[in-house]
Amino acid sequence: MLKNNLGYPRMGSHRQLKKACEQYWSGKITREELTQAARKIKEENWQLQVNAGIDLVPCNDFSFYDQVLDMTLMLGAIPARYTPVLSTVQTNKEIDLYFAMARGYQKDGLDITAMEMTKWFDTNYHYIVPEFTANQQFRIFSEKVFAEYNHARQLCGNAAKPVLLGPVSYLLLGKEKEAGFERIDLIKSLVPVYIEVIKRLKAYGAEWIQLDEPYLALDLSKKEKQAFVYAYNEICQRCPSVKILVATYFDALLDNTQLAVNLPVAALHIDLVRAPEQLDEVLALVPEKLQLSLGVIDGRNVWKNDYSKSLPLITKAIAAVGTERIMIAPSCSLLHTPFDLDQETEINSEIKNWMAFAKQKLQEVSALYQIVNGNTELYQINQQAVAARKSSALTNNPAVKLRIESITDADANRQSAFPVRQQLQQQRFKLPLFPTTTIGSFPQTDDIRQLRAKLKKGELTQAQYDEAIEMATVNSIRVQEEIGIDVLVHGEFERNDMVEYFGEQLEGYLFTKNGWVQSYGSRCVKPPVVFGDVSRPEDMTVRWSSFAQQQTDKPMKGMLTGPITILQWSFVRDDQPRWVTANQIALAIRDEVIALEQAGIGIIQIDEPAIREGLPLRKANWPSYLDWAVKAFRISASGVQDDTQIHTHMCYSEFNDIIQNIAAMDADVITIETSRSQMELLEAFADFEYPNEIGPGVYDIHSPRVPSVEEMVNLLEKAATLLPAQNIWVNPDCGLKTRKWPETIAALQNMVDAAKQAREKITEPETI
Ligand code: GLN
Ligand code: ZN
Repeated sequence: MLKNNLGYPRMGSHRQLKKACEQYWSGKITREELTQAARKIKEENWQLQVNAGIDLVPCNDFSFYDQVLDMTLMLGAIPARYTPVLSTVQTNKEIDLYFAMARGYQKDGLDITAMEMTKWFDTNYHYIVPEFTANQQFRIFSEKVFAEYNHARQLCGNAAKPVLLGPVSYLLLGKEKEAGFERIDLIKSLVPVYIEVIKRLKAYGAEWIQLDEPYLALDLSKKEKQAFVYAYNEICQRCPSVKILVATYFDALLDNTQLAVNLPVAALHIDLVRAPEQLDEVLALVPEKLQLSLGVIDGRNVWKNDYSKSLPLITKAIAAVGTERIMIAPSCSLLHTPFDLDQETEINSEIKNWMAFAKQKLQEVSALYQIVNGNTELYQINQQAVAARKSSALTNNPAVKLRIESITDADANRQSAFPVRQQLQQQRFKLPLFPTTTIGSFPQTDDIRQLRAKLKKGELTQAQYDEAIEMATVNSIRVQEEIGIDVLVHGEFERNDMVEYFGEQLEGYLFTKNGWVQSYGSRCVKPPVVFGDVSRPEDMTVRWSSFAQQQTDKPMKGMLTGPITILQWSFVRDDQPRWVTANQIALAIRDEVIALEQAGIGIIQIDEPAIREGLPLRKANWPSYLDWAVKAFRISASGVQDDTQIHTHMCYSEFNDIIQNIAAMDADVITIETSRSQMELLEAFADFEYPNEIGPGVYDIHSPRVPSVEEMVNLLEKAATLLPAQNIWVNPDCGLKTRKWPETIAALQNMVDAAKQAREKITEPETI
């Protein structure tokens, strides 16, 4: 029985890679120093895994930016626009081409855009999207995998296992950049390069090679299934003496089980955390000789494994196929977990005893191995921790549990239907046609960030800090009034992050000091941890919203983060279903909404940018998720009177396939990101005849560019051809936190002028 690991966090124990990359980008360290920093991280990781007794230690899981981009470079699939960089970048400076593809290139008189980035399955990790053309050529371009394998071999010997993204998933993760072909058809020209790579790795000594094929756990077309058969038949025929391990994760194989177990490979990894029930099906179909890697330890969360759940899975598999054919492993790469729990000195020790980060998860792999081999003590220690967690007063809040049980349908419904509310709200706020607003945050300048740092260091008292934040708030209100915006926001200067700010004030939440997880490139996030029943001991935002409302006669929008976004961007409990945690957070937000209403705030926005990314990977599981997610939102929003206006906001979303559920959220107003797609997204709303009010973003906030009045008027005219004019709001695509003041003011000024022109050009009756 082997102890297997699929991948390890690559930032280093103290985010050394982040620092090194950023210093290299700003010219503060040399390429050699950057490479040296990377070498150290890799060696530390390998040593750690060898020490933990891991038999198959991943290498080439390290990446300076992203493992998919590494594949693109290895396979020479370099988009044509980078050709000029190829010639300015001298030999041996492959890394500069690599970073140019990741981040764009504005040097040497060139201005080349970066490759697109998108989310890696249902994680918060972003990968760089491969770009394909109709006659896409592949060849070995980057030698990184060979160098890294040879390096790992020095430290781990035969245990070193190179990891590559498998050919089918690599193609499916990419995009066609021209019409007239399907990327999956490139499999024939791609596979020979994989064969060459695998042969070379074999020649250097590799015994096992891991090919990640997460798409095996997704819905596949017939053609895609055929591509799997073709690719792996070719690879295994041409490289008969290499042991290929195909890794699947994040969901069950389901209808792809037959396909997956019959690939002519040496081993198959399955995710038994997300889908423990798939073990039976796999065991029923597994052909003789295929080895199984059992992903029993959660690679997506921070909790200690419950051995009483993992052990039966392992013993069942052993009984079916024999010990020699079994490997024990985490469910997926540990990339998605923080590095080391030992570094957390401030977490309550009772709770810390329930947790495990990447390093501890390796120890769990080894512990399970020992338990299977008769060690009872390790099992008992684990079960004590599991039992302590179950019965702890810290996880259990009877009042919250009771409240969850007594939620009724009425809690998820506004008092009246939208048309009634709309009329009452119109009477109350008397807003003009095309009312203007913003999404919430205003520039988080260095000054603002420094205030927070100083407060933390004790260089500012709370009172001094609050006063400075009040000044920033007042200033932003004056700016909005001068520009002539209709519905104001307070600017969110008091918030560092839209989830952390609420997590810090909710009971049942904890924060780590060093629990960083890579989000994209050098960017890391530190998700808060929900460990217990969530409740709201006090008002969270009323102080700032009321203060802001007192400064102006215009309506001031209250700003909250919605339950699904808070859930999605946190590490959540694994001892209760996600929907239960979602409802607990929803009730806390509901109470805050009501408190804001009572404080005189008549318009309240509940942001839900993460609702779409929470969608399950398999379409069959969408309805149940959407059901509870929409309901959680509605619970949070429905405690108010009819004349209180609830807004919601979403960014980066394609809504076409879930428009019905977006409508079911029943927000009075939804603001969405649409400017980059030239209102294309709005068509989904128009086709559906979306009944409530909509603010389609009229300018892109991701760039400092100031949009002209005319282009925004054009967008509004376009919107008015699709939707009833009296339902249209005017706002930017998203919050303005990353922008600077001058461009913000100029852009909003133009936006307000555009709304005024639109009011003159487009009058209600004709357009309905
Ligand atoms: N209210 C938030 C802001 O303006 C919304 C952020 C978001 O959609 N991601 O910053
Ligand atoms: Zn947004």
